[in-house]
Amino acid sequence: MPDTDSSPVFDVAIVGYGPTGATLANLLGSAGLSVLVIEKEADIFPLPRAIHFDGEVMRIFQSLGLKQEALAISRPGIQGMHFVNAANETLMIRGGTAALGPHGCANNYYFHQPELEALLRKGCQRFANVTVCLEHELLSVTQDGTLATLSVHKHSTHQAVTFQARYVVGCDGARSPVRKAMGSPLVDLGLRQPWLVFDVVLKRDVALPAHTVQICDPARPMTFCNVTGNRRRWEIMVMPGDDHEELVKPGSLWKLVSRWVTPADAQLERAAIYTFHSVIATGWRKGRLLLAGDACHQTPPFLGQGMCAGIRDAANLAWKLEAITQGRATDALLDSYEEERSPHVRSLIELAVKLGGIIQTTDPAEAKARDEKFAAGGPEIFELPAQSLGGSHFQNASHKAVGRPFPQPRLADGRWLDEVLGRRMTVMGRRDVIARVSTEVKRQWRDLDMQVLDTPDNAVNDWLQTHQVAAVIIRPDRYVLGVARNAQELEDLSRHLPAPHKLREEAAL
Ligand SMILES: Cc1cc2nc3c(=O)[nH]c(=O)nc-3n(C[C@H](O)[C@H](O)[C@H](O)COP(=O)(O)OP(=O)(O)OC[C@H]3O[C@@H](n4cnc5c(N)ncnc54)[C@H](O)[C@@H]3O)c2cc1C
Repeated sequence: MPDTDSSPVFDVAIVGYGPTGATLANLLGSAGLSVLVIEKEADIFPLPRAIHFDGEVMRIFQSLGLKQEALAISRPGIQGMHFVNAANETLMIRGGTAALGPHGCANNYYFHQPELEALLRKGCQRFANVTVCLEHELLSVTQDGTLATLSVHKHSTHQAVTFQARYVVGCDGARSPVRKAMGSPLVDLGLRQPWLVFDVVLKRDVALPAHTVQICDPARPMTFCNVTGNRRRWEIMVMPGDDHEELVKPGSLWKLVSRWVTPADAQLERAAIYTFHSVIATGWRKGRLLLAGDACHQTPPFLGQGMCAGIRDAANLAWKLEAITQGRATDALLDSYEEERSPHVRSLIELAVKLGGIIQTTDPAEAKARDEKFAAGGPEIFELPAQSLGGSHFQNASHKAVGRPFPQPRLADGRWLDEVLGRRMTVMGRRDVIARVSTEVKRQWRDLDMQVLDTPDNAVNDWLQTHQVAAVIIRPDRYVLGVARNAQELEDLSRHLPAPHKLREEAAL
C-alpha cells in the first residue's frame, strides 16, 4: 500500500468511502483508472440512514455489474407514500406501482444502508487498480497546475502520509474537509430540524402498513417506513422542550411508538437523533478538486433522495473523468458537472423542504387549516421532479428528450438496452441517416471511441418515432446528449461533442 512521497500519482483520489465514494470508485475502477480511496473510519457507518433508492440508482448499480446483488438486498417499493393527518385522513399520496419504470427497474426500492455500502465496497475489490486506505484521514489538500496533493493522517501508525492525484473528489459527507479546502459556500434552503430515527427488527407478525406513512400530527409529527424483511423504521420529530438524552432511552422510545409495537413485538436495533438539513454548495469544482454527494448537498429525507443524488453525481462525473484521463476530452468537460446536476438536486431539496413544511406543522390551528385545504381538494397526488440535467451546453436543449435519461427497454433479443450500450457514448439512428453522415464526422466518432448502432431495435425505433427524430446520441451515463432529425443535424450535433484532448495536441505537433 503506497504511503510515502514516492507513491504513484493516481488518476483520481476519492476522499470518503460512503455510498457516493464507493459508487464512484466502482465506476472509475471498472473504467481502468488508477483510483485511491481514503476513508477515516475503520468500518462502514453503522447508524440508521437511507432506506430508499430509486430506479435510476438501480440502473447505475446495473452499470457497475451489481444489479443482481442489489436486488438480493432490497425490495421494490410498490406501495407508495401517504401523508395523513392526526385523524388518519389522507392529505397527499405519492403513488406506487408494481410495473417496471422507464429505467427497466422498479421505480422505488427499500434497503438497509449498511448492507448496500458493504456490497459497493465488495464491488471495488474486483479492481486491482482501486487502492482503498481505511483509517486514513484527510488533513489538507492543495493543488497546482498539474497535480493535487493530499496530506493524510494514518491512524494505525500515527504517521503523516502524502498522496498525489490528477483529480480529487470529496465524497466526504456533510462536514466535507475538501469543500472547506475549496472554499465553496453552502446555501441554506430553509429547513433545519432535529428528528429521532428509531429502527426495529420485528420478532413476530405485527399489523403495520406496507407503505410509507407521513403522519402530519401537530402533537408529534412522525414517519413510518416498511424497510426490508423484518426491519421497520420510525422517524419522530424532536419537539421543542424534548430532552435529547431522555428521548433516546429505550423507555421513551417504546412509549413513542406504543400504538404500533411493543418490546414484545420487536427488537430495538438503533436509535439516533439527526438534524435534518437543506443545503446546497456553490462551486462543486475548483480546478482539480471536485465535490459529490452530501459534501455538496444535503436534503431532509422526506423523499428518500439524499444518497440517490450522490450516486447520480458519481455517474455524472465518472464518464467525464474517464474521458479526460484517457485523453478523449479536455478537462473543460468537468465545468458542465455542477451546471448539469445542481438544478435537479436543488428542486428535490426544495420539494423536501415544502413537504417538511406540511409534516412539521406543530401549531394546531395551522394544522387544522392545512387539513381543511386538503379535504376541500381531495388527496393531492404528487411526483418527484423528473430527472433531468441543467446546462446551457446542450446543442438542441429545447427538445424535451435532451438532457433526460434515455429509457432502458428490453430488446427483442431479450437483452436490456444498457447491455448493448455498455460504457461508451452511443449514436443510435436510422441506417439511411447515419449513412449520409460525412466521413470526417464518422472519424471523429471513432476518435472519441463512440459506438454507432444503425439498425436499432424496434423499441428504440419506437422511441425515435415518438420523439420525431431520426437519431439520438446517448452519453455513457444514459442521458440524451442530443437528437437529430436528419444527417445534417447529426453532423451539427457532433460538433458539440467533447473535444478530444490528445488528438488535438498530436495535430498541433
Ligand atoms: C435519517 C436519515 C434517513 C435517510 N434516508 C435516505 C433515503 O431513504 N434515501 C436516500 O437516498 N438518502 C437518505 N438519507 C441520506 C443518505 O444517508 C446520505 O445522503 C448518504 O449517506 C450520503 O452519502 P455520502 O457518501 O455522500 O456521504 P457519507 O455517507 O456521509 O460518507 C462520507 C464519508 O467520508 C468520510 N470522511 C469524512 N471526512 C473524512 C476525512 N477527513 N478523511 C477521510 N474520510 C472522511 C466519512 O467517514 C464517511 O465515511 C438519509 C439520511 C438520514 C440521516
